[in-house]
Amino acid sequence: MSGGLQDEQARLAIAHPRIPFQRDSSVVRKKVHPIDKALDHFDDFYKQVFKKQWPSIREGLLAKPKYVAVINNFGDCEETMSKLELSGALNMRTLFNLEKDYMKEELRENSNKQLLKQIMNLDKQLEKQARQSKKTEEKPSEKIENTKNYSLEASLEHAELDHLRIVDSKNALSTEILNEFVPATKIKGKEDFIPESTYYQMFDSTASSQVKIEKDYNLNFPDNLNVYCYEMDNYNDFEPVKKSSTGVSNYYLMDGGSILPVLALDLKPGSKVLDMCAAPGGKSLLAIQTLYPELVVSNDLSNSRVNRIQSVFNQFLYDFNEKWLDTEKIRLQNSDARFIEDLYYDRILVDVPCTTDRHSLKENDNNIFKPSRIKERLKLPELQAELLFNALRIVKPGGVVVYSTCSLSPIQNDGVVSMALRRIWEETKFNIVVKDLSIALLQGRNVYNIAKRDTVKLGHLVLPSMKQNYGPTYFCKLKKIE
Ligand code: SAM
Repeated sequence: MSGGLQDEQARLAIAHPRIPFQRDSSVVRKKVHPIDKALDHFDDFYKQVFKKQWPSIREGLLAKPKYVAVINNFGDCEETMSKLELSGALNMRTLFNLEKDYMKEELRENSNKQLLKQIMNLDKQLEKQARQSKKTEEKPSEKIENTKNYSLEASLEHAELDHLRIVDSKNALSTEILNEFVPATKIKGKEDFIPESTYYQMFDSTASSQVKIEKDYNLNFPDNLNVYCYEMDNYNDFEPVKKSSTGVSNYYLMDGGSILPVLALDLKPGSKVLDMCAAPGGKSLLAIQTLYPELVVSNDLSNSRVNRIQSVFNQFLYDFNEKWLDTEKIRLQNSDARFIEDLYYDRILVDVPCTTDRHSLKENDNNIFKPSRIKERLKLPELQAELLFNALRIVKPGGVVVYSTCSLSPIQNDGVVSMALRRIWEETKFNIVVKDLSIALLQGRNVYNIAKRDTVKLGHLVLPSMKQNYGPTYFCKLKKIE
């Protein structure tokens, strides 16, 4: 694990001297490499979506990524956490909770100010009433009562909100917004871009879909999940992972963005979790580290990749075969998740195959932008929507599905969610709502750079940048209403 990461970082440093954003048009360069093709594609497409933000996202994508360390509860945790803290790493749960307390305090102060204002207004009214010798008086207690509930949820209900971040379901994926994604003029003459425009057009037909969006203030950091990160602008590397006294590794390094889809699953003690596209197993392992699930099924289409999950679990879960597999706490499954029929899962993660934007700019081997993989790339949204559709179909009523990608593409992100929802409405009677976590995610504003609501409407998107180079990670929480 650690060796892989070091190799990857070394490769990255060599392979990507920063390519300037404005290229000199006099330099004629033969576009042969898939990583160049990927960059051309992103420049053409994402510039139109992210506009002024694109240069900084692009710079992040091309630079060294940032990782977080997930503490292995089955290793030497206390000792490992102390060491990480001494190196300046911070516990993400503590950062989230501090920010939550700060937000509560801010809201309490605002409420106090409001309360004071109300009392003063009331005083004025009473004086006026006394002067006018009116007999009826208002009861101050009624008005004051409303401001006394200081839970985060209650306070947030009364908070002044940043209206850019609020989703109006009527406007979600409106024709006007979707048309912004159509780089019609750019497509001409670039053969392998043309079929993609079909998907942009398909967006128009989804515009009439009635997406139900509900605010959700619930994003809890499980007590047993300890994730360490370095603060913004701090580019310390984690030390190579060491083995614990029991032989398992002490932490798992992963992209910081990958934490959020698992938090969004809202795992509870006894949850039955299906990770539909699980290999190499990072997010399944994260779910296991919460110590909540009664069952985690890690599924993948590819047999060789299921073997990779097994080797990751062997590395991190003490006595994996006897303690986890034999006791049926974990199951490894090799199947096409579009056709899974089991109806007992209350949490399903759909972390789909996608254009893996960061990876596509780094590795030529097996790159999804290779000419031989064009068809596969263009069919990605269809496959993603089928996977999400099946998750929404089989999840238990009251259950949660989280859809995620590591792409910035609005087609693979909000577009796929919209397509899957449309099919659910057309073909089933299930009632699915999209959960808007914008406000709950403010707890993580010191850790993550999350896109504003002008670029993503249904889910949430962690944007890479030089300040905090996590992601891209898109995730959308959906709930099946009972
Ligand atoms: N969730 C993983 C993690 O966090 O480590 C990463 C998953 S990766 C983005 C996508 C995975 O989906 C690949 O391992 C791929 O083999 C798998 N996959 C592709 N099509 C699939 C299908 N129809 N059913 C199940 N898995 C599929």
